[in-house]
Amino acid sequence: MMEMRRHLRVLLVDDDQADRLIIKRTLRKRSSEVDIDEATSVMEGLAILQTRSFDVIILDYKMPKANGIEMIKELRSRPDLGQVAIIMMSSSEEEDVAVACIEAGAQDFILKSDLDKLNIQRSLMHAQKRFELEHKLHQNYLNVKHLSEKDPLTGLSNRYHFNQIMDMLINHESPTRSDVALVLMDLDNFKYINDTMGHDAGDRLLINFSKRIKSQLRKDESFARLGGDEFAIIMHGMRSIEQVEKATKRIHDATKTKMTIEGSEIQCNASVGTAIYPLQAATKDELFQFADVAMYTAKREAKGSFKLYDPMMQDIFSRQYNIQQGIKRILQESTFQMHFQPVINLDTGDEEGYEALIRWPEEQLSYVPDEFIPIAEKNNDIHEIGNWVIDHALNQIAKWQEKKPNTFIAINISPVQLQLRKNIQYLIEKTEHYGVKPESVVLEITETTLFEKQQVIKDSLKRLSDYGFIISLDDFGVGYSSISHLVNFPIDIVKLDKSLFTIDESEEKRIAIFEALAGMLKRLDMKVVAEGIETVEQMALCRLLNIDHGQGFYFSKPQSATTIEQTRLKFQENVM
Ligand code: C2E
Ligand code: MG
Ligand code: MG
Repeated sequence: MMEMRRHLRVLLVDDDQADRLIIKRTLRKRSSEVDIDEATSVMEGLAILQTRSFDVIILDYKMPKANGIEMIKELRSRPDLGQVAIIMMSSSEEEDVAVACIEAGAQDFILKSDLDKLNIQRSLMHAQKRFELEHKLHQNYLNVKHLSEKDPLTGLSNRYHFNQIMDMLINHESPTRSDVALVLMDLDNFKYINDTMGHDAGDRLLINFSKRIKSQLRKDESFARLGGDEFAIIMHGMRSIEQVEKATKRIHDATKTKMTIEGSEIQCNASVGTAIYPLQAATKDELFQFADVAMYTAKREAKGSFKLYDPMMQDIFSRQYNIQQGIKRILQESTFQMHFQPVINLDTGDEEGYEALIRWPEEQLSYVPDEFIPIAEKNNDIHEIGNWVIDHALNQIAKWQEKKPNTFIAINISPVQLQLRKNIQYLIEKTEHYGVKPESVVLEITETTLFEKQQVIKDSLKRLSDYGFIISLDDFGVGYSSISHLVNFPIDIVKLDKSLFTIDESEEKRIAIFEALAGMLKRLDMKVVAEGIETVEQMALCRLLNIDHGQGFYFSKPQSATTIEQTRLKFQENVM
């Protein structure tokens, strides 16, 4: 509670000299313990308030230029000046004026004609008490407001408050309204860190991250934690896309530094997406949606990157979204399909094995594996898909081996699958379950960066190779085609990519490249398979180069198990 001071400090603001004299006299008559300062206008009063503080302001309602109510409004909007009780005076008896003064924030209203009669000291006391009470109520209100607007962990605005700020900026009809850029950020490995290091470490990471970003922001940029590991920033007053890009880049750069949590260094990048109102989005909701699309595009393309929204993203995004949802549905309904493509021994012409190739079920919108497998890899659905393929392909080859022993099955395995030990276990268990010899199972692995980086993948491959599976390096000739992989990993077979047949070069040069690659692989003692053989010339070339196996439309397209059984394995004839 504010303590009553021995000397009451009063500021008297009135343009009328005679009125001021009356008030001063009245005040001094009642008590000698008052210090009075005088101002003859609102401007002068405000200027004095900048230099000194007062307990009470006695304010005339009617003054030239600015009236008393305007002064109250100015005071109450400036917390640095406004902590003072106000008594409003007027010579008018109109009730409207009195109400307006109280509504604007005055604690009391008195008529000038009553000044002499009134116990002014009492009015001063009342005004002060009332002000203290209001002040306390206001403080309580602010505390509650703070609680409901702030994220307790980081002290940043929460989603609710952030929305309010957005509403204010975007619905603002003022002519000076400027562009609003919304930056959304999502930590990339937060779940992993939270799961492996515990929630305390996760909390510390979030606090650390928010501090780091905050240090990069201007005062007028609002920063919020929207929930979990999602953060948002609003920047306004941006004058060009370049400016937005520069500002976002500055923030994005700050997300890249390492942090030390519980003694260990952690790199926790954020994917960042930005959209601009009104340049790109017409409403607040659209702004959120577009920034979200940009952020997810950043996450998909390369975790920890930054993207500014581009309308093209919307189409790609919804297509990817459809695929993502489709995968989950198809897995649930268990309706993925499997085709098999014959692999031919080029020396004997025998059909020695089949490559299992997954197919999206035939429905209105179907997608090819080249499109949906990478999405499944990013969403971690590849584990379930991979296991479905393993189960299906092994079950199939077990049946075919009954009729035609030693037929092999080639199964495509994503490097992502090799990251989990339980997938390796699953593969081994299923092979045993169906009684298939591991030497008749070829595991086709594509080269990726992952391949290179992760020790766990190397370990998995070694384990599979030691168990007896045949390891095949798929799509050789495009992408990495690293010779060191051939030496450092237990690779038995190399599959030359089909694109080698269609390189944009002269026929002569194409053949020379093909020849050099095949020669090199043979010298390294690799078995070589050529895929994508479509013509008799291509087949002849492969034979000439001593390539072991061939695969392609020239021999057969991938087909359903039933078609393979009827047309190639001729099971139908055996049955009849
Ligand atoms: P891949 O393993 O290199 O498979 C060969 C692809 O070439 C197949 O495409 C096949 O249909 C196609 N192809 C075969 N012969 C010819 C030909 O003569 N000419 C042309 N132009 N193409 C031919 P598909 O089935 O669309 O699969 C594409 C890729 O998707 C596969 O490439 C593989 O990387 C991946 N994939 C397919 N099924 C699976 C699966 O079950 N698991 C995983 N992880 N990946 C799979
Ligand atoms: Mg393959
Ligand atoms: Mg291939």
